[in-house]
Amino acid sequence: MKNIILGLAVLSTVVMNAQTQIIAHRGYWQTQPPTTENSLKSLENAQKLKIYGSEFDVRMTKDGVLVINHDEHHGNMEISETNFKDLEQLKLSNGEDFPTLQSYLKQGKKDKSLKLIVEIKPAKTQELENELVKKTIKMVKEMKLESQSEYISFSLNICKEIKKEEPKFKVQYLNGELSPQEIKKAGLDGLDYHYSVFAKNPTWISEAKALGLITNSWTVNEAAVYDELKKQGIGFITTNIPDQLKNK
Ligand code: MG
Repeated sequence: MKNIILGLAVLSTVVMNAQTQIIAHRGYWQTQPPTTENSLKSLENAQKLKIYGSEFDVRMTKDGVLVINHDEHHGNMEISETNFKDLEQLKLSNGEDFPTLQSYLKQGKKDKSLKLIVEIKPAKTQELENELVKKTIKMVKEMKLESQSEYISFSLNICKEIKKEEPKFKVQYLNGELSPQEIKKAGLDGLDYHYSVFAKNPTWISEAKALGLITNSWTVNEAAVYDELKKQGIGFITTNIPDQLKNK
């Protein structure tokens, strides 16, 4: 009887691992009423959902402060050309302070079960990108969040730079033009592509899995797209509707 129970426990773990896992895109912000994407509140909401992870976007101000924002601009201010003290004058639309990476990681640390999916945004020069990578990693390490964090970027330079700095960190590439074989050759851990890329390359998910790569897709906001990717055995999807897809 004990062996049967043990066997079932092992089997359920294997089955669970084979399931597609959910990542909230810029936090969980499409709530009722909605909150602001990439806000502390959106991260807190994601923590309540008991999903795999929550994604957010990291940029660097002119004076080298790491902040969380999707667009290059905060209001009409270009983040990379503006000092933090000017940027923080403008609150988020939900009334919160303009979030720094530090404030975001502090909130993330409150729930160790939710992975922090750190998207490092491309910068204007390779030097700035490398500085952004170094500062992000330094802060993650200072806050002892190494095992809770994973990394994604549209910049191949940023992806490679993270692996150079910290070979054990998990890094996935976002831009979509590299095949699973090329991702493996570049020394990265996985591919996180727009779902249209997988539709055009229907063998890539199984090829990536055979190479031991992580497979992820964005931004999956329709059940039909989710079902198709799941059928192909995708490991993760990143979505604006984590509440609806998590039990599907
Ligand atoms: Mg992002």
